Amino acid sequence: MSKRYKIAVIKGDGIGPEIIDEALKVVDAVAVNSDFELSYEEYLMGGNAYDITGDPLPEETIEGCRNADAILFGAIGGPKWDDLPRDKRPESGLLRLRSTLGLYANYRPVKVYNELVEASTLKSEVVKGVDLLVMRELTGGIYFGEPRANEEDRAYNTMLYTKAEVERIAHEAFKAAMKRKRRVCSVDKANVLEVSQFWRDTVIEVAKEYPDVVLEHMYIDNAAMQLVRDPKQFDVILTGNIFGDILSDEASMISGSIGLLPSASIGGEVGLYEPIHGSAPDIAGQGIANPIATISSASMMLRFAFGEEEAADKIDRAIEMVLRDGYRTKDISAYGAKEVCSTQEMGSIIAEIVSRA
Ligand code: NAD
Repeated sequence: MSKRYKIAVIKGDGIGPEIIDEALKVVDAVAVNSDFELSYEEYLMGGNAYDITGDPLPEETIEGCRNADAILFGAIGGPKWDDLPRDKRPESGLLRLRSTLGLYANYRPVKVYNELVEASTLKSEVVKGVDLLVMRELTGGIYFGEPRANEEDRAYNTMLYTKAEVERIAHEAFKAAMKRKRRVCSVDKANVLEVSQFWRDTVIEVAKEYPDVVLEHMYIDNAAMQLVRDPKQFDVILTGNIFGDILSDEASMISGSIGLLPSASIGGEVGLYEPIHGSAPDIAGQGIANPIATISSASMMLRFAFGEEEAADKIDRAIEMVLRDGYRTKDISAYGAKEVCSTQEMGSIIAEIVSRA
């Protein structure tokens, strides 16, 4: 009997539905010649969920995600919901989903496609060949630490990490490095912050279990600089929540387009796979969004959540092939386009290549 995987699909707002439809087209195509079957259940989250239910993360969505083998998510948010109270805003739905499901490890791979080196704002010799992974701790650190307060004449937050929190994300980074170039760069601010010294000491302890991986440490200010000076020096960058938030956005720009980069948030009950970009309300409904980040996120889902390496490889190769053949959505059309295609056309071309592979 063939394997069956249940996917909770959250299309979200703005371009979310457009890009998710293309990712589903591609995973359906890859499933045809495989020994697994996929089933989908759609759930609401974000602004559209608020409009219908009054809650950006309805209980039904949480339950549906818990009962799935993986979550494939588009994007949420938009100006329509910007003035709502914080807990009703679309973004609060996503934050709540991540913490409810305990998704503590955020993988953000950054790979520069040879055909698109010119798309980066950095010099092509600096970015050509970049292939790194930012491993960000997602459910701890200063974003969640207590106490926190905004008082009349002062405000404060607490950057707090427990040993268990650092250990589990460090293991995640070392395991990822074992499948890559076997290098981990742990980023902290140990020259100033006690919590960072604790982070560093704990990472050194965990590293003893991975003798084949080379560990180095870098202060966050230096890392931010090194990332644009010579990004090729990095393999896996391991870091906490706030530093990872900043570094992963910086790293994403090395590739030139936000429409290309996938992400995975894992470690809890069920993994969440999503493009790194937002709902792009400025281009929603025009059929010009780049679906590659979402298709690539679906590939990560097949690899991480289901262990379907071959299917994921097929998708990754198909993406490389369409770019090599000069197919471009509007956002990257200035770089080597032989044919400018719509969101739907890009999805169909990738799906077709995958089904022939
Ligand atoms: P954004 O990522 O949505 O858009 C930034 C720019 O990149 C825009 O010009 C947009 O057109 C372009 N862009 C983004 N994705 C693209 C794609 N796939 N193809 C082509 N171009 C693309 O960021 P923003 O404008 O700051 O935010 C818009 C909304 O998205 C806000 O409500 C924000 O809160 C939300 N947001 C959601 C997520 C998420 O759902 N994970 C992440 C970031 C922002």
